[in-house]
Amino acid sequence: DKGESVKVAVRVRPFNQRENDRAAKCIIEMQGTSTKITNPDTSDFVSFLQFSFDYSYWSHDGFTESADGILEGKPGSKYASQQIVFDDLGQGVLDNAFKGFNCSLFAYGQTGSGKSYSMVGYGKNRGIVPITCDELFNAMAKGKSDIKYQITFSMLEIYNEQVRDLLQKVTPKGGLQVRQNPKLGLFYVQDLRKVAVGSYKEIEKRIAEGSKTVMIAALSPADINYDETLGTLRYADRAKKIKNKAVINENPLD
Ligand code: ADP
Repeated sequence: DKGESVKVAVRVRPFNQRENDRAAKCIIEMQGTSTKITNPDTSDFVSFLQFSFDYSYWSHDGFTESADGILEGKPGSKYASQQIVFDDLGQGVLDNAFKGFNCSLFAYGQTGSGKSYSMVGYGKNRGIVPITCDELFNAMAKGKSDIKYQITFSMLEIYNEQVRDLLQKVTPKGGLQVRQNPKLGLFYVQDLRKVAVGSYKEIEKRIAEGSKTVMIAALSPADINYDETLGTLRYADRAKKIKNKAVINENPLD
């Protein structure tokens, strides 16, 4: 079977303080699903590059903060809020999880590009993970009483090619090992801590940091980050070509 392609989304954030201080220029443009990056070095041969993804989220400008601290698009703007990103990406992951597929959602991009904002969020601007978890527990509470659910939670980060367990204070030197289960073919991280959870509140307490696959590539809008951002777009472009092999999850805890 051909499998389903990895879904890839890119999202561009507002300027940060440092970029504002340096009067950075925005080199990212988005139209529909396409993302264009302009080379700030006008002496270079390549002046711009254009990419196409499943979703291109413009979160650079065109927003206001509501009275309760939520960033929302101004009328008529193309600003993509946390809710829009969840509706597009998180809901599908959740639906697939309920059908018994392994799902994964990950973010990629340089430090400060907006990975945590999309995945976890800050303050009232909750990201995909908390909204998904809330919905997951709501759906279970409403579900049939003869179905038993088991939820475990793990959290990891890949930094400088090393896997770190975000639920453990210390990670062994060299990071944790990624291995493949020979029978199921699934990849897993050896010794990654798994905790049983009964509600989203319990997960929230653990986050105190913060197959179906979706990837969000987080982009800085600024000219001063051109090289890094172009690298991220190229990585995201390659990720589109990866095919998933969907495997129904009989009992993931075995
Ligand atoms: P990373 O996890 O990639 O290191 P962060 O998610 O912490 O980066 O983002 C860096 C800063 O940019 C944070 O202050 C965050 O609030 C802000 N930011 C990131 N994405 C957005 C966005 N889509 N809208 C508004 N602010 C954002």
